[in-house]
Amino acid sequence: GTIASKADNSSHTAGYQVDLTIQDLLNSIPDISRICEIEYEQLCNVDSKDMDEELLFKIYKGISDSLQTFDGIVITHGTDTLAETAFFIESTIDTGDLPIVFVGSMRPSTSVSADGPMNLFQAISIAANSKSRGRGVLVSLNDQISAGYYITKTNANSLDSFNVRQGYLGNFVNNEVHYYYPPVKPLGCHKFKLKISPHSPGISLPRVCILYAHQTMDPSLIELVTEKYEGIVIATMGAGSLPNAVNQCCLNMKIPTVYSKRTMDGMVPIANLPKGADTNSNFIIASGYLNPEKSRILLQLCLAGNYAMEEIRLVFLCVYGG
Ligand code: ASP
Repeated sequence: GTIASKADNSSHTAGYQVDLTIQDLLNSIPDISRICEIEYEQLCNVDSKDMDEELLFKIYKGISDSLQTFDGIVITHGTDTLAETAFFIESTIDTGDLPIVFVGSMRPSTSVSADGPMNLFQAISIAANSKSRGRGVLVSLNDQISAGYYITKTNANSLDSFNVRQGYLGNFVNNEVHYYYPPVKPLGCHKFKLKISPHSPGISLPRVCILYAHQTMDPSLIELVTEKYEGIVIATMGAGSLPNAVNQCCLNMKIPTVYSKRTMDGMVPIANLPKGADTNSNFIIASGYLNPEKSRILLQLCLAGNYAMEEIRLVFLCVYGG
C-alpha cells in the first residue's frame, strides 16, 4: 500500500506507485535495531485494492508458519483493505499470546512528513513489547493501538484515517507503549479452522457479494445475485431497513443473506429483520455491529466450513450480539 509507495515529488499525496520493498522500509528506521532483532519476508507488493484470496492465504500461511519462531509479527498493508485482512487473520489463526500488528500509512514515502516510517517504527516496537501479548491482532496507526477485529477505515485522505467505536486499546508516545486495559481479545470472535492442503497455495472461499441499498433499489438485483454467489450481504439503509419489495425478495432467498448497514455506527438487531425472518424457514441473518465487508468475510468462512444455517446465525449472534 501507500507505506511502500513513491510519488513524483514531495508534495504529491495521491496518484503514486507501490514499489518499495520491505528492506527499503526498514532502511528508513535504522534506530529500530535498538529495540529488537528483525527478520523479514516480502510476501507481495501490491496496492491493497488488489488483495485477493491467494495473497490473503500467503499472509495466513506466513503468520501461521512463524508463530513458534518469533516474539511478535508485523504486517505492512495498504490502508484501504487493511481492516479486512486483520479481521480475516483474527478469525482464522489462534495467535495465542503472540502480538500480530498491522500497519500502513496515508502518505507516500516521498512526501513531506511521510507517516510511514514512524508508523512502522511504532508497529515494530508494539509487536516487540511484552505488554502487547495476549491481545490478538492489533492495528497500529497514527500513534493509536486498536483491535484489528473492530477497526474501520473512516477517512479516505487524512492521517487520522481509522476509527474504532469500541475504543482504542492504547497509545504510543516517545518510545513507550501505553495500554489502557489489561490484555483482552475480542469477545465472541469465532475461530475458523481452514482446511489447506500442504501442496496447494490456499483455498478459494465461497463467493459472497455486497449490495448497497438506496432509495428505489431494484429488488430484482437480489435474484440476479443468486445466480453467481453463494451468499449476500446487504448494506441496509439504517438498522436493517430495506424497501418492502426488497425485503420480500430476501425472504424468498435460498442462500444466506446478511443484513448489515451503510452507517459506520450502530448495529442491525434481529428485531429489525423483516417479519418472519427470525424463523428457521428463511436465510436472513442480522450482522449486529459488523460492517458489510467484515460480514462478507465472516459469511465466506462459515460457508467454507459448511456451516448449517443455524450455526451461521449463531456465529453472527456470538460475534456481535446479533
Ligand atoms: N490505496 C492504498 C492501499 O490501500 C491506500 C493506502 O495504503 O493508504 O493500498
